[in-house]
Amino acid sequence: MNIHEYQAKAVLKEFGAPVAAGVPVLSLADAQKAIDSLPGPLWVVKSQIHAGGRGKGKFKEKEAGEKGGVRLAFSKEQALENVKAMLGHTLVTNQTGPAGKQVNRLYIEDGADIEKELYLSLLVDRGAGRVAFVASTEGGMDIEEVAHKTPEKILTLDIVPSKGVTDADAAKLCDALGLKDQARTDMMGLSKILYKAFTEKDMSLLEINPLIVMKNGRVRVLDAKVSFDDNALFRHPDIEALRDKTEQDPKETEAKEWDLAYIALDGTIGCMVNGAGLAMATMDIIKLYGEAPANFCDVGGGADEKKVTAAFKIIMKDPNVKGILVNIFGGIMKCDVIAEGVLAAVRETSLAVPLVVRLEGTNVEKGKKIIADSGLNVIPANDLDDAAQKIVAAVKGK
Ligand code: GDP
Ligand code: MG
Repeated sequence: MNIHEYQAKAVLKEFGAPVAAGVPVLSLADAQKAIDSLPGPLWVVKSQIHAGGRGKGKFKEKEAGEKGGVRLAFSKEQALENVKAMLGHTLVTNQTGPAGKQVNRLYIEDGADIEKELYLSLLVDRGAGRVAFVASTEGGMDIEEVAHKTPEKILTLDIVPSKGVTDADAAKLCDALGLKDQARTDMMGLSKILYKAFTEKDMSLLEINPLIVMKNGRVRVLDAKVSFDDNALFRHPDIEALRDKTEQDPKETEAKEWDLAYIALDGTIGCMVNGAGLAMATMDIIKLYGEAPANFCDVGGGADEKKVTAAFKIIMKDPNVKGILVNIFGGIMKCDVIAEGVLAAVRETSLAVPLVVRLEGTNVEKGKKIIADSGLNVIPANDLDDAAQKIVAAVKGK
């Protein structure tokens, strides 16, 4: 789950991280009070959407003006103008896709006097099986580009879980960030604070771009992007409460209610699978035969007829879906039960696109017979290769 920048900063502040004073604004009526509560001389108005690159983004509507989604103002009047210009308008950044995202919340912050912009993040290093810091002096810009062109400017530092962030670790981070004096002292403390926040709140990503050194020599978290491990949310009701449903794909919200894992992609073939490994294999083979998955919906090990129907409906809601591939291995779940579920879903949703079904595992013959005898327009497949070729041919109209 992702949260907004202002929420992420509030979480980090609880742990003692240095952030600016700021007030979230959900309507124009809240704006003046928020601006008045901050001392100036600089007011920063920041679009709150679940996407980065806001500063360099562009609004779709003309009345929002030419500037991006993060605007600086040196007067209260200008700050209010910025609020009016941005609120309710659609911001397009390199992370939103061309449709952009409507800005329904703003964050007004006490502006910082910046000396230097740095990059710092924490993530789960799956290779090392540890939480890692990524640090670079090249903050504020596209870190992927830095990683590509000048990888020597990025330090990755794995943390030993039994020890946590040691002074030696913190010193390495400070060196990589080129910090001295007060800024170094600040960062020695901040690295431990961030690690604590990351692990205690079960974050999967904490990205601070930029982390800044201010003209007064102090360090501050200027931007914060935080994602949480969905599988650990049950133990963080305070974090769950931060969920902004308007930022989620409604299909993902519905899938969550059915305990289905739905992932939206940008191809043409909807995939219903069970298990993440089978999902990956299914997507790979679709690509091998020249098409791309529009999504995949993982129904898990114990899906019943109702769940399969729900999964079908969710997959069908994507207007890009030109065909569906069901690829299910009946282990705990028997193939005949799956077949019944698929047919029920086809009848209920009056399916209008080609459907290929590949079943394997327990009661596979029974399952295949149920589909063959149904009289419905379902294309049976013998194996994964056959299934992928058939669905690709079907969406291509062959
Ligand atoms: P992003 O574009 O979505 O990553 O949003 P950021 O929060 O990173 O802000 C983008 C840029 O706006 C930063 O890299 C800064 O250059 C600038 N900015 C944001 N807040 C402040 C501030 O308090 N003072 C100054 N001077 N610039 C700021
Ligand atoms: Mg940023």
